[in-house]
Amino acid sequence: MTEPTSPDPTPPAHTWTRVRYDVPVDRVGRITLTRSEAANAQDYQMLSELNEAFDVAARDETVRVIVLAAEGKHFSSGHDLRDQSDIDELPTIGTQCHFGADGAEGYMAREAEMYVGLCWRWRNIAKPTIASVQGKVIAGGLMLVWPMDLIVCSEDATFSDPVVAFGVNGHEYFVHPYEAGARLAKDMLFTGRAIGAAEALQHGMVNRVVPRDDLETETLALASHIAKRPLFGLTLAKQSVNNSTEAMGLYTAIQSAFGLHHVAHSHNRLKFDMLVDPEGIDVIRNEA
Ligand code: ZN
Repeated sequence: MTEPTSPDPTPPAHTWTRVRYDVPVDRVGRITLTRSEAANAQDYQMLSELNEAFDVAARDETVRVIVLAAEGKHFSSGHDLRDQSDIDELPTIGTQCHFGADGAEGYMAREAEMYVGLCWRWRNIAKPTIASVQGKVIAGGLMLVWPMDLIVCSEDATFSDPVVAFGVNGHEYFVHPYEAGARLAKDMLFTGRAIGAAEALQHGMVNRVVPRDDLETETLALASHIAKRPLFGLTLAKQSVNNSTEAMGLYTAIQSAFGLHHVAHSHNRLKFDMLVDPEGIDVIRNEA
């Protein structure tokens, strides 16, 4: 019986410019966002690379736990709204199509593929995943954090989804009531305010809050602790909890909210000729 070896991530990794993969401690694979000069704003390129990195980590037979971390002051400022990437140029991931279609069709397909589809895919990776979070997590940033199984954050971490100011219901992977509880979810969405680490812990939205300087070591210690357990047991435990939230209607709720989200995009297009209400920028800026 030969020992499992870590796969060479070279095939996709040699082209990665926005993420990095390493195995910092035994049995723990770590994916790091490396676009700190843009506060790790997510363009389609980053999301595609991130998906490839999750595939590498999932198939790495030496790895039992996957950590998602980020370089720089902030974990992620959300989606890169300047992104003009052509999804048809990226590797095929899901089953959506007609990305370039007119009307609501193309944009809905793009968001179904790159936002909801990827989040749901990462949520179901058959290994425990841990988000290691510092600084700001804004809107689409939550869509990287919430699909992970556990969340360790530093004391300076804040979590917000202010996009109701843009005339939409919230970001596309609408799991807010499940992650924050219905009451706090409405507070976050109605006010757009940022939830601090202590408040997030109080509401069970994160698992651990640690000093900023200890974030990496505390995350890896937790990952190593978990990684002592057999992978199949971990996988079955994860699947059992995931099945439970699905029994509570999670997937149907996400799809229902996604439909409403695209009513909002279509409404804004008819009214403002834009996907969002342009006044939202000033509303958010004036409250910052
Ligand atoms: Zn959208």
